[in-house]
This record gives sequence, C-alpha cells and structure tokens, in this order.
Amino acid sequence: MQGKILLVEDEKTLAKALKFTLEKEGFAVAVAYDGEEATQALTADPPDLVVLDLMLPKLDGYEVCRRLRRTSDVPIIMLTARNEDIDKILGLELGADDYMTKPFNTRELLARIKAILRRTGQMDAGGRKMIRMGSLQMDLIRHRVTVEDREVPLTAREYALLSFLLPIRGGSIPGSNCSNRYGAMVFAVTRGRLMCISGI
Ligand code: CA
Repeated sequence: MQGKILLVEDEKTLAKALKFTLEKEGFAVAVAYDGEEATQALTADPPDLVVLDLMLPKLDGYEVCRRLRRTSDVPIIMLTARNEDIDKILGLELGADDYMTKPFNTRELLARIKAILRRTGQMDAGGRKMIRMGSLQMDLIRHRVTVEDREVPLTAREYALLSFLLPIRGGSIPGSNCSNRYGAMVFAVTRGRLMCISGI
C-alpha cells in the first residue's frame, strides 16, 4: 500500500473517479462527502494525506482545513473551483500544501500527491513507504526497523543515520555538499566525510 488518503469531495462522480484512480495506484482511499464527515474521518482513522474540496456541504473546505491544522500537520491538497484565494489556502491562515483548480488532470493530481508524500517523508523515491534490503525492513511511517520480522531497537540518531544511508546502498554518497534532514538531524557530506551536524 502506498499510503492512506482521505478524499473529501461532494461531487459523487468525481469522487468515484478519483477513488478508482488512486486505488489503482495502490493507495487506500476513504471518501467523505461533506465537511462534517471529513472531520469525523480525520479523527477516526488519520490518513497520510488529505485531498480536500473547497466547496462542501455543512462545513466548507476552509473550515475543515482550519480545524485540522489545530491538531495535525498531515499534508493537504485543496481542490478549488476557481483560481482564487490561493494565498489564503497556501498561506499561514490555512496552511494547505498544494492546490489544484477544477477541472484538473487526474494524472497531475496523482503526481502531486506522490511528490508531497515524498517531500514529507511518507514515501521514498521509489514510491514506497517501506525500504527493504534482504531481511531488513525499514518502515518509514512508523520509524521501525525489523530484521527477519524482529524489531531492532534503535536510537533516534541511529534510525536517522540508517534512513540516510539505506536508500543509497551500493552507491556512493553524492556530491560534496549533499545534506539531508531527518527530523531534527541534518547529515552532511563534507570533504568525503559524513557528519551529523545537528541534533546530536
Ligand atoms: Ca464541491
């Protein structure tokens, strides 16, 4: 599974088409048809990403977003019927991660969902939430590492270091100015040496 998406859309035909496309790509999709249903679904089964229509019955997308942001930083892509209020949607007031203006291309929405999940660390570059190497599995969502299905207890720093190194296994660490942030830690490669430069 690629991740859990909550789709909040009152246009049933559009909701059905989007659900179909996203499920075909391996996402688990829950659908809410109004703002109240959305807030209930967000609490009952927190998703990895929310696709949120702006114009909704009961509570509109602005209010759903506002309420959600009080307790969660889950990525949100807003669907708008017109190209306005973009500053408000993406700005501090609502804090959505991206938006799409209807009508939109479903493939583009899919590309943006994947890009955001990668950016927020919910999915690796290959579209996976899990990195596997032999019998080792790294769950990028739950921050758990198992070897032969047995959990390996790691400190936050050990986990972060493994997260940095595992995706480039077998290759060389790129560039002399490469740096990566994992939570509060930043790793950098300087003059051929890998260093943890914060969060120590
Ligand atoms: Ca609508």
